[in-house]
Amino acid sequence: MTSEPALAVSASSEPLPAEVPLDERDGLYLRQAIAMADVGRSRGNRPFGAVLVSPAGEVMGTAWCNTTETGDCTGHAETSLVRAVSPRYSRDELAQATLYSSGEPCVMCAGAIYWANIRRVVYGIDAWRLRVFRGERLDQRDAELSCRDVFDASPYAIECIGPSLIDEASRSHVGAWKV
Ligand SMILES: [Zn+2]
Repeated sequence: MTSEPALAVSASSEPLPAEVPLDERDGLYLRQAIAMADVGRSRGNRPFGAVLVSPAGEVMGTAWCNTTETGDCTGHAETSLVRAVSPRYSRDELAQATLYSSGEPCVMCAGAIYWANIRRVVYGIDAWRLRVFRGERLDQRDAELSCRDVFDASPYAIECIGPSLIDEASRSHVGAWKV
């Protein structure tokens, strides 16, 4: 952990999750998800984005968190993406796809990913580091249940890779939250 940005995690005695290195392909698409987060932020939303990619490299869908612009509290990037792709692709096609998310999926989005039959997830900033940006405001805090806990409860394996590209994924959050 050599280049942790100036983001001291207060009141946490647990070590932060270590960055997981990505290959070129996963890095490419995770960066697209981070770009979607920035689109969402530019429209006044929380800075989260997601991209779904087929094994052949087809971008099957993209989404950003749209909760502010729609007023729909379930409009997280990953759940919005699942809503968009689920009617358009078969469960078999979704089972082969990888969902890239700029941030670690919350419990709702992990559930949506499960229901969509998506079986591989790569994410950027993790929930622990996100807490630094969210601060202690109740309206910004997350339910503290890891997406891995949800995926581990699935009857089939859901691969979950992250945190990755932490510095790049963190940049979208600088100045984006009330403190
Ligand atoms: Zn979510």
